[in-house]
Amino acid sequence: MDFYVILGVDRAASLSDVKRAYRRLARKHHPDINPGDPESEAFFLRVTEAYETLMDPERRQDYDEHGGRRPGPSVGAVRDVEFEGFDFSGPAASGESASTFGDLFADVFARSAVARLSDSSPGGIDLHVPLRLGFEDAMRGGAHEVTLTRVVRCDACRGTGARLVAEGRCAGCAGSGQSRWTRGHMVFSRQCAECGGSGRRRHRPCGVCRAEGMVSRTEAVDVPVPSGITDGARLRLAGQGSTSRRGGTAGDLTITVTVEPHPLFRREGDDLHLAVPVAVHEAALGVRAEVPTVGGRASVRIPPGTQSGQRFRLRGRGAPSPGGGASGDLVITVRIVLPQVIDERSKELMRELGRLNTEDVRAELLR
Ligand SMILES: [Zn+2]
Ligand SMILES: [Zn+2]
Repeated sequence: MDFYVILGVDRAASLSDVKRAYRRLARKHHPDINPGDPESEAFFLRVTEAYETLMDPERRQDYDEHGGRRPGPSVGAVRDVEFEGFDFSGPAASGESASTFGDLFADVFARSAVARLSDSSPGGIDLHVPLRLGFEDAMRGGAHEVTLTRVVRCDACRGTGARLVAEGRCAGCAGSGQSRWTRGHMVFSRQCAECGGSGRRRHRPCGVCRAEGMVSRTEAVDVPVPSGITDGARLRLAGQGSTSRRGGTAGDLTITVTVEPHPLFRREGDDLHLAVPVAVHEAALGVRAEVPTVGGRASVRIPPGTQSGQRFRLRGRGAPSPGGGASGDLVITVRIVLPQVIDERSKELMRELGRLNTEDVRAELLR
């Protein structure tokens, strides 16, 4: 991954921009803050590598020109590095890049640790993406798209970071087989890692991925949603996440589903609840009522003498079970609706009804 991308700074970022970005990431990803989290640790190692490269004007220039493929002191074991002596012909490093001897060697040792650790990390980064579904879509299920940006293997170089070319002189070491670099006035050298010291080269860095073997891609991914999925459910797509290093396996993609509420249905487990208004005379005399269900309308028999709040269950007409089992039920709750009773004739009928039915409906309360 591109060092600028890792730190989230642009290519013109000043040293203090880089420093600020590093501190911000360190506060979040430092291994001390996430003990026992190998992903965080692997990522933080890359952050540190990016920071060290971009803070050093020389290495940064080298990185900008060669895409970081030139084997600076960051690659390889310490024993390969040879201290060649001092060079006082140029200006010494100053300001932000000035270092003490202790820093310099700590630097070299720390980097060999970096190389070892990142080689043993699995290299996958899990991604988390939200998916919002309408109530009906959640009931139906099927494929739904999410758009995400992830780092995947570069197809142009098959993830190797290099493409085969006609054999020629190694550009990394100008054919000498040795690469040299300076820190302050000190000169180091080691065997050229690009050509393994042969001075010849049969590969060139892949231009598509800047020799990283990975590219960042924004694309739509089809998520298979099981019918009847519940609000807050998580779907995991193995191997659909990001890759954090060349040749590494991809992490997983986790989709957290939000289901929008329905204006009529309320879900409880796999049962759906629906309030059904019933007129007074219908409740008293019985009626066959049409009600909506997720799979179209259904007819329910409301028996004579039904009370307000009484429930009826329509087997299997609730939500499909996302686990693949039997569907839930549709539970309807009767809500008796009084007529307006404005006209004299209706009022007279109500009084008449009262005279015929003298039972005290509050007898239970005052016993
Ligand atoms: Zn490539
Ligand atoms: Zn070379």
